[in-house]
Amino acid sequence: MITRDDIRELANFHSPETCAVTFYYQPTTPLNKSHREESILVKDLVRNALRDAEKHGRNGCARPDLDRIQGMAEGLRGNGGKAKAIFACSKQGLWREFDIPAQLLKTNLFVSHRFHLKPLAAVLDGVQHACVVLVDRTKARIFELVNDEIVEKQDFVNELTRRGKSDGWRGYDAGHVERKQMNEALQHFKTVADCIEPYFERKSCDRLLIGCHDDVWPEIHRELHSNSKQRLVGHFRIDPKVATPDQTKQMATEQLTQYNSRLQQGLIHEVIGEAHRNGRGAIGLRRVLRSLETGEVQTLLLGSNFQASGVKCHHCGHMDLHDAPVCAVCGKENTQLEDIGDAIVGYAIRNGIDIVYIADDEQFDQIGRIAALLRFRADQNTSVKAAS
Ligand SMILES: [Zn+2]
Repeated sequence: MITRDDIRELANFHSPETCAVTFYYQPTTPLNKSHREESILVKDLVRNALRDAEKHGRNGCARPDLDRIQGMAEGLRGNGGKAKAIFACSKQGLWREFDIPAQLLKTNLFVSHRFHLKPLAAVLDGVQHACVVLVDRTKARIFELVNDEIVEKQDFVNELTRRGKSDGWRGYDAGHVERKQMNEALQHFKTVADCIEPYFERKSCDRLLIGCHDDVWPEIHRELHSNSKQRLVGHFRIDPKVATPDQTKQMATEQLTQYNSRLQQGLIHEVIGEAHRNGRGAIGLRRVLRSLETGEVQTLLLGSNFQASGVKCHHCGHMDLHDAPVCAVCGKENTQLEDIGDAIVGYAIRNGIDIVYIADDEQFDQIGRIAALLRFRADQNTSVKAAS
């Protein structure tokens, strides 16, 4: 499984000789569709990349990697329904290969100074890693939900209650039994909270959902530790004793989808509001590029369908949406980019900027499918004001 550290490492990679090869493979659906077509497509992409490199007078340093990818084309055969991402630079001895969810837009190949991370980052952003806990007064079940797969990790009953029952309750008055049960349930919730917390301490999960009966929710919530509380999405109503993993997955996924959608809507509104009152919001490509270069950006919002051509200067790193032959900042030669979104994503990852991908949102489409929430406004900085 690819991690955020892997992505950061790939984003920092730079090939001065232009031999960083990025290959994305998206299996055709249905899976049994002609694998021959797939391998022809890959071979065409490789041939075009080689021709392109020759045309620009490069020394062919990408050739060993392109040959290797071409050699793989026959064997991909749908890749078991998974997509594939390969990042390679034989000159610097790098070859990284990842199987990822089959959610890429298409099979594609790039040879450049840097790796193309936009498709990968967008797919990974969609991957949820949630801890789902079903709990009642006597039982608890802990699941991990990754994308579409749910696995039950732990299953335990309240041992105190079990012991209590085997001892029998004869001899206690009714009030005493009730108090005893309440204390035991409370102890059980504390144990459950202790078991959940490590899932967030070691950062294997980034969301928490609790399935329980409504009446015990406040008591469970009270016992949760700090990391768990921070990652809490909410609770849903389910019978922990009889729920199947599939039912649990369905309820949890619904909650997660609603939660993410609310989060995105909130961000879009905040950015638009801030931009309109001339505050900490930037909307549209021109404004976002300027904010990136002045270091203002805290969170980048990027439409999953964002694409725009542009140029980049590999000497000073300046990105521009104008198709100019030379860099507006340093005067060196610009490189044409089919999609400036790729360069923006790479820049954001290298600089520790959060990226939020926005899928299918009409309002977001209207503002140009790119926006940013800013940490500060460089033009409202007092020293800049004083200087101008
Ligand atoms: Zn420049």
